[in-house]
Amino acid sequence: MKQFFIICLLFLGITAFAQRPTVDELKTSKGSLKIQPVLHGSLVLTWDNKTIYVDPYGGAKAFKGLASPDLILITDIHPDHLDTATLNSIETGKAKFIVPQAVANMLPEKYKSKAVVLNNGQNITEKGILISAIPMYNLPEEPDSKHTKGRGNGYVLNLGGKMIYISGDTEDIPEMRSLKNIDVAFVCMNLPYTMDINQAASAVLEFKPVIVYPYHYRGKEGLSDTEAFKKLVNESNKTIDVRLRNWYPDYSK
Ligand code: ZN
Repeated sequence: MKQFFIICLLFLGITAFAQRPTVDELKTSKGSLKIQPVLHGSLVLTWDNKTIYVDPYGGAKAFKGLASPDLILITDIHPDHLDTATLNSIETGKAKFIVPQAVANMLPEKYKSKAVVLNNGQNITEKGILISAIPMYNLPEEPDSKHTKGRGNGYVLNLGGKMIYISGDTEDIPEMRSLKNIDVAFVCMNLPYTMDINQAASAVLEFKPVIVYPYHYRGKEGLSDTEAFKKLVNESNKTIDVRLRNWYPDYSK
């Protein structure tokens, strides 16, 4: 009987996490970096016994079974990035938040004391991790655009010598195109909020990350054609490793 329960528990465990894409691992100068796509613009990085949540979104189930965060990076104020309900549903006791000022202003009071404000162009070392804030915005720059320059942050993290770029919601801005030595890039592509796959591919071909993950690719008309994005990139540059993952599992089951 006991064995039967253990088998049931194992089975439940497997099915509970089955929807989440498998973890990718990358060697760094200090152990491996684990990359866990979660949902839309949300991902979890694990390195040097530290767990980093980026834009936790999608509810408790999307994070079930994952280690609680040491760092939470939030890129912008919109609810797919600053998702208070999800923050309230995960264990944030030991977490430090890294946020732009606009997000700090909107954080619930209980998280404000845990937040460090980092604005475009600024760097900070937090929990031994060098974090740089990169601009993210729509083109052309207009005061009423969905993402105005200076409000939100893209981030570059140095994890054991591997440079990880998280675009946030942006178009193919010069600050992205001029990035150097990026090992892993998470690049958004969804209309009408960010950019199309042609702009994203063109930018990626210019800054040449070693690995690129299309992420944040659900738009008003459904999902962007990430296969076509991969083709566009690899037709011009075969060495860029374009990794297609399912960033939209159904966590409701
Ligand atoms: Zn977004």
